[in-house]
Amino acid sequence: MIVDKVANVYCIDTMINNEKDAVCCYIINSEKACIVDCGSTSTANEILNAIDELGISRDDVRYIAVTHIHLDHGGGAGRLLRYFKNAKVLVHPKGFKHLINPLKLWNAAKSLLGDIAEIYQAPEPCEESKILAVKDMQTIDLGDCKLMALHTPGHAVHHVSFYLSKHKTLFTGDSAGMQYNGMIVPTTPPPFDFNGSLKSLEKMMELNPKIIAFTHFGFGKSELLKKVYKKIVEWVDIAKEVVSKGGDAMDLQNKILELDSEFRELLNLYKNSRIVKESYMLGFLGLIEYVKGG
Ligand SMILES: [Zn+2]
Repeated sequence: MIVDKVANVYCIDTMINNEKDAVCCYIINSEKACIVDCGSTSTANEILNAIDELGISRDDVRYIAVTHIHLDHGGGAGRLLRYFKNAKVLVHPKGFKHLINPLKLWNAAKSLLGDIAEIYQAPEPCEESKILAVKDMQTIDLGDCKLMALHTPGHAVHHVSFYLSKHKTLFTGDSAGMQYNGMIVPTTPPPFDFNGSLKSLEKMMELNPKIIAFTHFGFGKSELLKKVYKKIVEWVDIAKEVVSKGGDAMDLQNKILELDSEFRELLNLYKNSRIVKESYMLGFLGLIEYVKGG
């Protein structure tokens, strides 16, 4: 479902598990159309419908840019390639082999997420010739505009953000947290790389973007980069305190509920969303593990 638009960029709610505002994708309606993050296998039809609704020929979809290979961002690429015959998948070099053979990724997702993995469904393999591993700062020509890939490890080692310079729009995947209405929560699942994450945020701030396109969820203001940076630092400090008292991820969630009114509000807003609540919990687990290991 198309839910928002800025310039030639459309925001599509994937309606994963029938949940609104949980996972979105973007369609850049440029000469060479590009999808940024593509949801999971289970939501591929939402993208197809949006492409059709926008009047974009399926043959004109030239790129599927996945910020990283987690199932909610890149899981649907293999399924979508069946319909977009001229499309290539853009991915971090470290994600390349997992797109060709997604079995290891699928097994890892099942052991981490349990039955939530089934909501996403298993990723389908991508043909090797249809995948393009993007270098840091590599520019992709979309005809009337350009998309730049920016390696942004932290949330995952294989994370890439994409920058549409013409409209100063930055697609952050999970590298700048999850936002809703200007309220933000860091996305820090295990194995979380604290220093990498902050460095990536600095790198993105240097671009001076005007609009941030979050996969969770929707367009936001550029100030959110600074805000999430600060919050990651604060939350790691809180995690240190919780760990020093022998606490676990649930204790950390409770502590942050007490200290962070935005998180309180977001948790309440998403109280019926299994997908979002699970992401928050994994984030707390990642912070606890980082602090214990660091
Ligand atoms: Zn995600």
